[in-house]
Amino acid sequence: MRELKLKAMAKINLGLDVLRRREDGYHDLRMIMQTVWLYDRITIARAEAPGISVRTNLSYLPTGQDNLVYRAAQLLMDEFLLKEGLHIELQKHIPVAAGLAGGSSDAAAVLVGVNRMFELGLSQEELMKRAVKIGADVPYCVMRGTALAEGIGEKLTRLPDAPDLHVVLAKPPVHVSTGFVYGNLRADALGSHPDIDAQVQAIRDGDARGMAELMGNVLETVTIPACPVIAELKAQMMRTGAVNAMMSGSGPTVFGLFDDGERARQACEELSRGDLARNVFLTKFFHNRKREKETAAG
Ligand code: ATP
Repeated sequence: MRELKLKAMAKINLGLDVLRRREDGYHDLRMIMQTVWLYDRITIARAEAPGISVRTNLSYLPTGQDNLVYRAAQLLMDEFLLKEGLHIELQKHIPVAAGLAGGSSDAAAVLVGVNRMFELGLSQEELMKRAVKIGADVPYCVMRGTALAEGIGEKLTRLPDAPDLHVVLAKPPVHVSTGFVYGNLRADALGSHPDIDAQVQAIRDGDARGMAELMGNVLETVTIPACPVIAELKAQMMRTGAVNAMMSGSGPTVFGLFDDGERARQACEELSRGDLARNVFLTKFFHNRKREKETAAG
């Protein structure tokens, strides 16, 4: 196989709780992760010249070792002593630094793709073990679907598919780094915590409304004061009929869950006309059973 096309899917957090700050500076988390149908397109191709080359449609993204796709390819090529060259074409559609795990998902797709292209024979579990060396969210991005993530995000328990709802994503034109958010989080002084166990149960029961009503993200306590537009976006989503709306990851993207497709479409239109959000998407949950049928690879 000379060339392989991959879809690297974005994720949202249906729930995000921080239990404590650890000695090593990381935080112990409990998160419910959900893949959504919004993806970067990646093509990997064998190249004549040895080494890894990366090209992307976003001129400000690094194309060397600082790009997570480069690091993912390098990790497997070093371990398996692959001497051939590899070219990676990365077409970004997932907003960057948005709380949607775009970079992590790109890395996961490249791990899956290199494993397949060079017939390395690694199982999904073996890929996930290597993935954590690139980033805490990368093992989940290899797994995809609905999952409970614990530890720093790498301890994963697959959950039944979350009940389907329409998803509106809105990224405001502000920048917030994950480091800033965790650095300013007072994990020991959080007033309340989302009930992640109850939300897991709602998912197991197929209770869409219960799952949505139990949404909570403690990182909002840091990101919203820094970027009040997030609260405005949440309020607008609720006004336009969302069952619930919340920030994803460390932000600043806000998502709204709608049980009515027409309302979701209207919310999306209104947000696109207004100036609170720079990127607006109408999407839905991605479930693993669709993977084999609907995605080109990985
Ligand atoms: P998370 O939800 O995991 O916090 P994120 O959506 O906030 O992820 P990313 O879009 O993954 O953030 O990337 C954040 C930073 O990583 C950017 O500043 C960018 O320079 C760097 N980066 C490295 N590789 C990539 C990539 N393939 N795509 C996007 N960003 C990348």
